[in-house]
Amino acid sequence: MNRQNAIPIFDGHNDVLHKLHAAPEKDVESFFEGQESWHLDYPRARQAGFRGGFFAVYAPNPDSVPDAQSRLKKGPDGYQVEIAPPLDFEYANRIAGEMIENLLRLEKESRGRLKIARTYSDLEESFHKNGLAAVMQIEGAEAVQPSLENLADYYQKGLRSIGITWSRENAFGHGVPFAIPASPDTGPGLTEAGKELVRACNRMGIMVDLAHLNEKGFWDAAEISQAPLVSSHTAAHALIPRSRNLTDEQLKAVAETRGLVGVTFSVNDLDGGKRPKKDAPAQAVLRHMRYIADLIGVEHVAFGSDLDGTTIPSEVGDVTGFNLLRDLLQEAGFDRDALRKICYQNWFRVLKETWKD
Ligand SMILES: [Zn+2]
Repeated sequence: MNRQNAIPIFDGHNDVLHKLHAAPEKDVESFFEGQESWHLDYPRARQAGFRGGFFAVYAPNPDSVPDAQSRLKKGPDGYQVEIAPPLDFEYANRIAGEMIENLLRLEKESRGRLKIARTYSDLEESFHKNGLAAVMQIEGAEAVQPSLENLADYYQKGLRSIGITWSRENAFGHGVPFAIPASPDTGPGLTEAGKELVRACNRMGIMVDLAHLNEKGFWDAAEISQAPLVSSHTAAHALIPRSRNLTDEQLKAVAETRGLVGVTFSVNDLDGGKRPKKDAPAQAVLRHMRYIADLIGVEHVAFGSDLDGTTIPSEVGDVTGFNLLRDLLQEAGFDRDALRKICYQNWFRVLKETWKD
């Protein structure tokens, strides 16, 4: 395919703000100059036609929590990682503040190359004018007070999407532990504060993200929300029975609300760990996209890469892997209209419907 005419990409999830935060010696300029050890930076985004996406503000487990490897319990057919303990509000709020500050600095020091999309017209403008349109998202709502008192402050700073939980419990709901084979039905549904959070997000025009949330929480959100249902980075449970992936019933519910599923590049969710992680092929992404498109329609599937947040197939490698994936989609028989939907139009439709301006 001629790259000049390549369809641009808007992606459902990346963790480059986490990479930047974890390397305080790096300046925001590293992102614009290029940072080979990350999946995503500005020069490679340009090569890939990657023009926008959700930039996650995510508080990692504090150092006091043993790493995932030491919390892993193997079983005969799979494993489960013992769930991490809840985060303090103070800690989560501080980390979120620092990461948001980094994103604001990326915008400020970008000389027009990166713009935080606060409205739908912002989004269209910076995406189509060749810059990078960043949507500010909190992944795991621990930095939001259960009273929702500080939600408006976050909105003011540019927040336009909230993932209710990461794979942890918080004041709003219960995230799934990382496990396979496992159902996503791993515990109770949304708390009262969680239900209020969904209603408040609907009112304010903040996209609610159901990635990492357990199944009962998902159904609670489905019942309450007036907006399209979204899971920004996940895969099909029917193909890989991992706790993070959506069942066919959940996928159908997403479609019924004109919602959207971003397909992750995480080899754990796509491939289930039956072979060495790096050997998972790029085709694994396609396999999940094809399955979801066949089940609920091409209007409801998009990219949700999780770049810089997970292990991805070595064939995909980094953000430039979008070039390969675009070609593979075409080879798999998705026509140009379908490709446009998958690459960005579906995300745009959902954001237009969810945001208030
Ligand atoms: Zn995630």
